[in-house]
Amino acid sequence: MSEQLAHYPAVAEVDVAALVANAARMRHFAPEVRHLGIVKADAYGHGRHQVARALALAGYDILGIAQLAEALELSDFLKREGFSQVSVFSWILPVADEAAIRQAIEAGIELSVSNLDQLHLIERQGLPARIHLKVDTGMGRAGAISTEFPALALAASKAKHANVVGVWSHLARADEAGEEGKQATRLQIKIFNEAVQAAANVGLTGFARHLAATSGQIWHEDAHFDMVRDGIGLYGLSPDPHHSASLDLGLQPVMTLKADLVQVKRVPRGQTVSYGGTWVAPTDRWLGLVPLGYGDGIPRHAAGKGPVSVYTRAGRIDTRVVGRVCMDQFVIDLGPVAGSQPPALAGDTVVLFGNPKAENTPGCPLADDWAQACGTINYEIITRLGARVPRAYS
Ligand SMILES: *Cc1c(COP(=O)(O)O)cnc(C)c1O
Repeated sequence: MSEQLAHYPAVAEVDVAALVANAARMRHFAPEVRHLGIVKADAYGHGRHQVARALALAGYDILGIAQLAEALELSDFLKREGFSQVSVFSWILPVADEAAIRQAIEAGIELSVSNLDQLHLIERQGLPARIHLKVDTGMGRAGAISTEFPALALAASKAKHANVVGVWSHLARADEAGEEGKQATRLQIKIFNEAVQAAANVGLTGFARHLAATSGQIWHEDAHFDMVRDGIGLYGLSPDPHHSASLDLGLQPVMTLKADLVQVKRVPRGQTVSYGGTWVAPTDRWLGLVPLGYGDGIPRHAAGKGPVSVYTRAGRIDTRVVGRVCMDQFVIDLGPVAGSQPPALAGDTVVLFGNPKAENTPGCPLADDWAQACGTINYEIITRLGARVPRAYS
């Protein structure tokens, strides 16, 4: 992670207590099984070191991170911090960087294996390695397709150095409330069971079976197997707000994105705002300037739509972005001019998204609302937040 900037006019507050409460909530959804904490992409933008430390203290003994380069760094961090009991699992391996593979094996990082090339690459290092065989049960992403999985399992069963500690897959439609999605998940579970059987048939034993991420965990009890992988739920958001809202699931949003209002000004009716003049003040208007832009990961798609809450001395103003989002700033509408007093002042706090139930940000938008406004998902809204926005932990 990069060094944090001092004096930045915006901050992403990360509520560590909420993260820990969400971890307990995930245990409630799948009480009988082991939980792996997902900290990929810098812990969905929350900061992987702080999140990993909190999860280790909350009892997680395995963390998952996609990129091997991040896994190597995380593994070092955990050892440095005295959390050597916490394993790291990684599932995007470099194709030809044998040094990285070797280093990962030496560090005890558990590696996903989707094909014979990867198995051979690991086996060639001649060191005891812990591997999870991946079967593609319908996601069509990584993994051996089901017809090729038995051959992979057979080869792994004969490996001298690689030890199969997991058989795993990933669900593509576990968040869907509709019958079609449920059927697709049932089919994936069936194919997964067949792969597990194929592994047993070649003599593999004692491996952990894992299939479910947050949505599978909440909505498909028969996908829990031996271990589940906790992702978006840890960060307090619903895998699918159209299915169930985070607050209804008992999850608390962990990240609150705040900025200082840096300017408030009065403009005449007809004033156009930002590049392209796409928004025109319909009356004499108060505008506010927010010092965040697409350079911070605020989607440009939020033009004219991104919701914000401004906390003023007189109360909360719920409003939105007007005109285009710029690289470092955007403009919000603070309403029609009525009298000479501005409705908000420079220095007031603007909240883009956070926890609307939190004491200091009541009624603020959710990351879900930004996702809706920008035609994306809450995962992307939190994860894309730029590294230059300081994170503050409490
Ligand atoms: C991201 C990811 C998860 C976690 O998914 P959520 O929907 O955030 O819970 C689990 N497993 C894999 C392989 C992933 O890539």
